[in-house]
Amino acid sequence: MSKITDIPYLSLIYAGALAAGVTAVLVFFSWHTGMLITDPVAFAGFIVFGIAIASYGFPAPHVGYVSLDRVVQFASILVFGALQAAWIVGIAALIAPLLAWDRVRGSGLRLTLVRCLHNAGMLALVVLITGYLYQFFGGSVPLLRLDPHDLLLIVLLALFMQLLNMLLMAVIAWMEGYDWLHAFGIFAATVDVAAIPLAVLTALVYNRFEWPVMVLFLIVLAMIVLIVRRLADTRRVLEDKLDTLTAVNRVGRAISSSLVLDELLEMVFRECRSLMSFEIFILGLYDESAHSIDVRLHHNPKGRQPPRRQDVGVGHLGWVISHNKPAFMRNWERETGELKRILYQIGDTPQTQSLIAVPMTYRERVLGVLSVQSYSADRFDESHVSLLMNFASQVAVAIANAGLFAELERSRHELEHRVDERTRDLAAKNDELRAQTERANALAVSLRAAQRKIEIELAKSQQETRRDELTGLFNRRALDELLVKEVNRAQRYQRSLAVVMADIDHFKSVNDHFSHMVGDDVLRAIANILRAACRSLDVIARYGGEEFLLCFPETSRQNAAAVCEKIRQQVESHDWSKIQPGLTVTISFGVTAAPPEYDVDTLIAAADQKLYEAKYSGRNRVCA
Ligand code: GH3
Ligand code: MG
Ligand code: MG
Repeated sequence: MSKITDIPYLSLIYAGALAAGVTAVLVFFSWHTGMLITDPVAFAGFIVFGIAIASYGFPAPHVGYVSLDRVVQFASILVFGALQAAWIVGIAALIAPLLAWDRVRGSGLRLTLVRCLHNAGMLALVVLITGYLYQFFGGSVPLLRLDPHDLLLIVLLALFMQLLNMLLMAVIAWMEGYDWLHAFGIFAATVDVAAIPLAVLTALVYNRFEWPVMVLFLIVLAMIVLIVRRLADTRRVLEDKLDTLTAVNRVGRAISSSLVLDELLEMVFRECRSLMSFEIFILGLYDESAHSIDVRLHHNPKGRQPPRRQDVGVGHLGWVISHNKPAFMRNWERETGELKRILYQIGDTPQTQSLIAVPMTYRERVLGVLSVQSYSADRFDESHVSLLMNFASQVAVAIANAGLFAELERSRHELEHRVDERTRDLAAKNDELRAQTERANALAVSLRAAQRKIEIELAKSQQETRRDELTGLFNRRALDELLVKEVNRAQRYQRSLAVVMADIDHFKSVNDHFSHMVGDDVLRAIANILRAACRSLDVIARYGGEEFLLCFPETSRQNAAAVCEKIRQQVESHDWSKIQPGLTVTISFGVTAAPPEYDVDTLIAAADQKLYEAKYSGRNRVCA
């Protein structure tokens, strides 16, 4: 279901009907009452007065346009009466909007017509009703003095007039699709009601004084209106500036939050669109080293265009960068300057009718250029230029930050790369070192093995040097050491130690009768017999030639002599014919023991002495 407000031209139809209806009513009353224009000059003067005062209003925040036109409306009633006043106000209201050319052009013909017809109809109606009510309740026309009755009536009707006015305004606002509640704005109502005393004063001055006084009064009134208008204009300029600064600041905060250049640029486009309207948006970054412009963003109604590079010497972007100043073209048709030549030269966007391009500078360095363009002429004015310049300086800071950040990122990556390389180097060196250590360890192991082998060999050869080659018994050198040890130990613990010297009997004749080889066999056989007869802790050595020295630890002279006797018998009874038929071998022993003497030489000498005794007393015996 469509709403009544969806009907096209509804407000125009309504305004036309209102104006026509009210005109009909006015014509009817005028004809019916035979209304005469009592003073045509005054009548025309009030119309001019009405037009003038309506034209010198000012735009007020939120409520639209505010003027002191109520002064003329109410004064007309008090001077001319309801019917003439309605004509005056209606005609003035019909003409006034047409004279405000600026606003007419901005709003279009339809809206201007609506405004003319509606204001004329509505105000004439309001004035007619209010004026008749005033007269009906006995208000005096023309008003010559202020008596309480008139005054009370004026106050009440002023409020009634305001209320009626607001109701009718709400209707048209609703039809125009505006917020109809705005018609009840307290600010506009206050201005209108506050104008009533001025209206009463105007009527009194006109009705009671000569025309020069009225002229003076009008001059004073005009000055008041001009001052109020001037104050309102200043206020509007300040508010616009504040709006701009707030917007730029908000935008600056938004874009400086992004440190990634591409994200940032996209955000710049969005925020710029929230500040002003345009068809084309271009953002180029200046590449100083290549002397070119990196056109990163180019939006037109078809969407985002691919990035491109262009020479600084070409086009308005390059012009802005190389001159470091803004370019502003209000209207292509009227443009005659250098900018038009530049745009024409390169056939830049033939549709563009108005354009602003500003440099983005940071610390006196041009970082790039921002350009907004419109297909409509006169889209931009000076306030847009300063807005875009403010914006561009914020963008420049953000771009510089993003650039710094990108540089920081780059150097951080480089550092990480270097650290990685160094780590890899160190790891490689570490591996090499580990391999070297392993090789060294292996070498050490094999060295130790070799050393062990050498030690074993050495020990073996040492062993061999301690042994007599023929018999395997200790040799003389080993005996000297062992004997010293045994004697010292026996002496330290006061233990007994027996020392025996043995010598084969007539060994020379064995060699002589048989052979030296047989002699060697005999020596080996004797050694075996000695080894078999002795304990492991006893020392058996070949003392030299066919002489042997036996050392029995913990053994007394008697025990040693007994052992020797047993050996002597074994040698005597040994089957020597195995070596050589007819061979017999005997052996003699000299036995001595400590204590009393603990001395190697003394003991050996004593054993030797006993051996001599054994030889001397017939051989093949033990002497102890
Ligand atoms: P006695 O009963 O007085 O001890 O007479 P003997 O012949 O045994 O004594 P002598 O000291 O005169 O002779 C020792 C001989 O032993 C001299 C030497 O030829 C011999 N002889 C010494 N060493 C060896 C050896 O290694 N092998 C052989 N076959 N004979 C040796
Ligand atoms: Mg001998
Ligand atoms: Mg001998």
